[in-house]
Amino acid sequence: MTAPTTLRELSCADDYDPDSMPVDKARALIRRFLAPITTVERVHIRAALDRVLAEDIVSPFDVPGHDNSAMDGWALRFADLAASGETTLKRVGDSFAGKPHAGAIAAGEAVRIFTGGVMPQGADTVVMQERATEIPGGVRVAAGAVSKAGQNRRLAGEDLKRGAPVFGAGQPLRPAELGMLASLGINEVSVYRRLRVAFFSTGDELRSIGQPLAAGEVYDSNRYTLYGMLTRINCEIVDMGVVPDVPEALERAFAAAAASADVVITSGGVSVGEADFVKALLDKLGEVLFWKIAMKPGRPLAYGKIGAAHFFGLPGNPVSVMVTFYEFVRDALRVLQGHRDAEPQPTFKALLAAPIRKMPGRTEFQRGILTRGADGAWQVRTTGDQGSGILSSMSRANCFIVLPAATGDVTAGSPVEVQLFEGLL
Ligand code: AMP
Ligand code: MG
Repeated sequence: MTAPTTLRELSCADDYDPDSMPVDKARALIRRFLAPITTVERVHIRAALDRVLAEDIVSPFDVPGHDNSAMDGWALRFADLAASGETTLKRVGDSFAGKPHAGAIAAGEAVRIFTGGVMPQGADTVVMQERATEIPGGVRVAAGAVSKAGQNRRLAGEDLKRGAPVFGAGQPLRPAELGMLASLGINEVSVYRRLRVAFFSTGDELRSIGQPLAAGEVYDSNRYTLYGMLTRINCEIVDMGVVPDVPEALERAFAAAAASADVVITSGGVSVGEADFVKALLDKLGEVLFWKIAMKPGRPLAYGKIGAAHFFGLPGNPVSVMVTFYEFVRDALRVLQGHRDAEPQPTFKALLAAPIRKMPGRTEFQRGILTRGADGAWQVRTTGDQGSGILSSMSRANCFIVLPAATGDVTAGSPVEVQLFEGLL
């Protein structure tokens, strides 16, 4: 059978079980329906930070443009150095960064040179200044100061050759890329337009901050975590507020969100008991699949299309919202943004500092605190209570401890996979 191309076909596939959907499978299914944005815009490289490049960049010239010195020292001809003992050379000029020595050097001659200074014609090697002594009219180079020709010389084009591909479309633009573009003299680039994401919270019990709370009501925090998570990945945001569990109000909100954004995200309303009427509503407006993911927290999840917009229906519990966002939505949004390598955040192994109890069957994303042990090795422990409503567990954590579905109890000292919250670049 060929791969299903519509959500309806997908939901008829033999191995499709919406009530026990493995994490990897849900990711792969969603991935099939994602096509990157195609609209591009020209922006100054400063404004391009955290955007995705929409063109190929080739180097307009060699970088560096000339052979130059990697050290402060003396430029000379390797062949002039005595096989053993010191060598005395005549000083014929200076080469500063940005102010080259005009002439060439001949046999027995040297040029005082500084880091980044252009190598004079005829010189092939630089002796670092610590291995040479300046004498009147010249320099005395210590025995064995260099071991081979070409030492301490940076070659023209060793970073980038003229005409060589530098970046391809889909390259995320981080500080290093901005610097490289600047080093090529490029001040404007084409990037994909920003992704527009509309979101709202559902629930009769929710109040927005600034409103008084009656008994049993809670403040809507999901819109703020979503705001933060979406802003971090540079999406354009449409915050549509709280929508009560009233079919007409929800229908209006879904329709308005889908008409104004590339992606619609909701929280709440997809759990058993609530899903049925949301399901009926979304069946009318688009094609949406409701899954129970074999994970903890974050079991219910809906994915589909409402018109041209992608829809993610996240669970209502505050921790579940964050976990499902990071494990499904974030990567999907990155694909839509045009990222070439939109892989999930990598995991690495750390040793568990205290045992964890776990039932086999679901992938768990426990909130972890990663620290360096006395021996310098990374170790991790949980933040304590792992309830899906305990948002402080996310705040105190610096990583997820990812425990695969098949895993049961884990003993102290065992290696476990951790997924860091922070990235460097
Ligand atoms: P639900 O998925 O709608 O059944 O909600 C599950 C739990 O999460 C309930 O305790 C809700 O009150 C809570 N919850 C739902 N949405 C939010 C929200 N936006 N902010 C804070 N808590 C929420
Ligand atoms: Mg609800």
